[in-house]
Amino acid sequence: MVDPTGLISHGRGEAFDYLMGEQTIPPAREAERAAAAFLLKAKNPVVCMNGNSIALDPKGMIALAESVPAKMEVNIFHRTEERMEKLISYMESQGAKDVLGRNPDARIPGLNHARALCINEGVFTSDVIVVPIEDGDRAEALVGMGKVVISIDLNPLSRTSKTATVPISDEISRALANIRESVEELRGNTAEIERITSSYSGEKTRRDTINHICACLQAGL
Ligand code: ATP
Repeated sequence: MVDPTGLISHGRGEAFDYLMGEQTIPPAREAERAAAAFLLKAKNPVVCMNGNSIALDPKGMIALAESVPAKMEVNIFHRTEERMEKLISYMESQGAKDVLGRNPDARIPGLNHARALCINEGVFTSDVIVVPIEDGDRAEALVGMGKVVISIDLNPLSRTSKTATVPISDEISRALANIRESVEELRGNTAEIERITSSYSGEKTRRDTINHICACLQAGL
């Protein structure tokens, strides 16, 4: 299910997790709460999944999508129909219902043919989209479509983290569980959701994340 380049991505992620002490750091937790606020406010929220995220935490993504609730769509960068079927059926075997991704009927502008394919009622018309372990090209294209892009990517220096609206630098399973916890905490609290979504800054999250990593490194000297 995972493209070989995806295995290298996992290693890159683990290196950053090590630098953060293999725990959720405060700026990530704040971004996870902001992600929950954007998801609760969305008209068409989507949790997007690829080979990496499906291999790492299928149940965490299902639980988050069900709690918001948000649609689920499998959308991969190294696309073959065989791989798509394998990933979607695996999600279904894990309990996911109504997983979008088969029979694409829309395209993400700015990406080449196979990489651009998606579903109109899902990724294409989503206003808020969660992209765990995303590639920089696709994250940029989704931001270019005007979406609120919530990335889960341990590397705060990746192109994905730099372009996402809400860049969460945390391990995927911890991030999904934390966003879910905040969804439950914020549900129905319109004033707080409004306060968070109108004042949130992804740039501040990234700056705080990098400062936190530097402080961890200095403490280890
Ligand atoms: P970009 O294209 O955005 O500059 P990249 O070239 O590193 O980044 P990918 O390898 O596709 O692109 O990105 C996958 C990202 O996922 C990596 O930055 C990596 O840090 C992150 N990652 C890997 N494993 C995990 C994990 N378990 N939890 C969260 N993030 C992870």
